[in-house]
Amino acid sequence: MRKPIIAANWKLNKGPSDTEDFIKSFESRLADLPKGVDIVIAPPFVSLPKATELLAHSKVRVSAQNMSEKDNGAFTGEVSAFMLKEIFVNYVILGHSERRAIYGESDELINTKILKAHEVELKPIFCIGETLQEREDGKLEEILRTQITEGMKNVSEKQALDTVIAYEPVWAIGTGVTASPKQAQDAHEFVRSVFTDLYGISVSEKIRIQYGGSVKPDNAAELLGQKDIDGALVGGASLEAASFAELIKNGVVE
Ligand code: PEP
Repeated sequence: MRKPIIAANWKLNKGPSDTEDFIKSFESRLADLPKGVDIVIAPPFVSLPKATELLAHSKVRVSAQNMSEKDNGAFTGEVSAFMLKEIFVNYVILGHSERRAIYGESDELINTKILKAHEVELKPIFCIGETLQEREDGKLEEILRTQITEGMKNVSEKQALDTVIAYEPVWAIGTGVTASPKQAQDAHEFVRSVFTDLYGISVSEKIRIQYGGSVKPDNAAELLGQKDIDGALVGGASLEAASFAELIKNGVVE
């Protein structure tokens, strides 16, 4: 039985003071939420110290939204895995479609980052997903297989088990258009089958695969109720504590 994991990707929103407001409001709602779920928030870099400090004794974990593949040196504007570890960050989102599309991150670079995250025991939330054009061209499976195979290169079985996968169809991110539960389940089943090819069935059955793309409180139950969907990566609906809490309540049935 895979434990669901629901993560809030705040993107370029919430400095330290808004982060503090959110955490205080969200923590007051935690007692009413299902227990059998991992909850993660991913604020921008500058808000991470505030988040890890306030959540030091909470069940809520903290994720970065990106990191450098380098340890240190002349890389202006970058933040290393070791630095994230030093401030008690637990997860890091890697390969988000916005990083791939806007900042040109390749499968190869994402693979280097995934390996670096594992080196310091940061858990990657590894994002994959197809564009609408790729789906319409019948390339869904080819794209997902390539992203997974390239991204997981040299990742050991143990590290694979410590990797969370986020299947996020690009056309559903921030658009209000959600994949239907069947479209999402079919893609997740395919993703799991690629992990079976790479690591065998006993590993692939344990790997958690989140769905991301316009998940809201009112569609969370249907999506997360699918057999191969083990949680969600949430953008817009995670910005308000009340809506994120409601989404978790609706999405996780105990
Ligand atoms: C995301 O940014 O990963 C995401 C899924 O965003 P949204 O929920 O807003 O579609």
